[in-house]
Amino acid sequence: MTMITQVRKEKFESDSTLCCQERNFSIVTNFGCAKRCFFCAFANHRLKREKQTIDWDYLDWCIGRFTGPKVSVSGGGDPLFELKENFSTLETIVAICHKHNRQVDLHTNEDLLDKLAMIELLGFHQVVVSTHTISEVRREELTRLLRFSRARVVVVYVGQSSDWIREWIRFYSFVPKLTVRECRGVVADFNKIRQTLQDEFPQVRFLADGDYNYYFMPDNLVYEDYDATKLAQKFQRKEKKQ
Ligand code: SF4
Repeated sequence: MTMITQVRKEKFESDSTLCCQERNFSIVTNFGCAKRCFFCAFANHRLKREKQTIDWDYLDWCIGRFTGPKVSVSGGGDPLFELKENFSTLETIVAICHKHNRQVDLHTNEDLLDKLAMIELLGFHQVVVSTHTISEVRREELTRLLRFSRARVVVVYVGQSSDWIREWIRFYSFVPKLTVRECRGVVADFNKIRQTLQDEFPQVRFLADGDYNYYFMPDNLVYEDYDATKLAQKFQRKEKKQ
């Protein structure tokens, strides 16, 4: 059985840094999500029902001691789910990051048109948008988002044809950063698609699966992994049975 590594450090420990130059620091919100992606890494998570309020003092302490490259806000669910209700939580997260002179990215898969004004107010450094369709609506959302924010667009690779990925890259090529990301738990030959397309699209990042973060989870603890691969596989098995 895989053990989840918890790296919570108490404030009064003598070695009280959270430092790894390889890793980012991801604050995993648990607001919920209306979508049902079959590869969702959080759908079966043991913390999905965890609804503690954020331990602000502890989060502040963690961000103050984190010396890695980036801070991001992501899900568990989607950080923009029920945005009006969750706006002040996001606002406080951004304020803590700014207090420590840290830029903070937002990761989302939400529909954006009705949320752009609030996203602008929040003042994220970059908005990373998962985009799994080739959609005029998404293009419009991203065009408007780019008027006030940096943006990166990600597609999760779940075995799409190289022609489809090519079309996706060309369609969203007006966005400065594009990523094709290997999907956790899905058996698909990511290396093959990377080898086929990387030379043709050197500006696109082909990102292999991996734990690139410390995760500040909804139980107010920090982990090096949240067992996402195993959980995503379990979810797919359940989906197939239905
Ligand atoms: S992957 Fe993201 S958008 Fe999809 S169901 Fe999970 S939380 Fe929602």
